[in-house]
Amino acid sequence: MQKLRFIRWHEKQLYYSFAWLISCLLCGFLFVTIIEFVGLNTSGTILIITLIVLYVIGLGTIELFRRFWLRFSYAQNCASAATCKNCGNYGLFNVIIETRPIYARCNKCDHQWVI
Ligand SMILES: [Zn+2]
Repeated sequence: MQKLRFIRWHEKQLYYSFAWLISCLLCGFLFVTIIEFVGLNTSGTILIITLIVLYVIGLGTIELFRRFWLRFSYAQNCASAATCKNCGNYGLFNVIIETRPIYARCNKCDHQWVI
């Protein structure tokens, strides 16, 4: 069984989510840069290729933001429910199984529950 302290688990989730957010911002920057340097005033094949590339980058940006938001909101929801129902200890437990839902064990009273 894998043991991971909740605070480390939460920190890891936040790192991953912000990595998605930074990737999203970089894609958005690339999107704007292509519009600025290639522009949409071209015609023919270059315009079609530019629009296809912008479409793909736009979809990628949306997907990256979606991944950021899902992981971030999941981590925050888990943090808000991180109180042991047996002893009221907040955030001081081990993550036994790191899948969804999270299986946790309190460090103080060994109570196990599902977040
Ligand atoms: Zn407890």
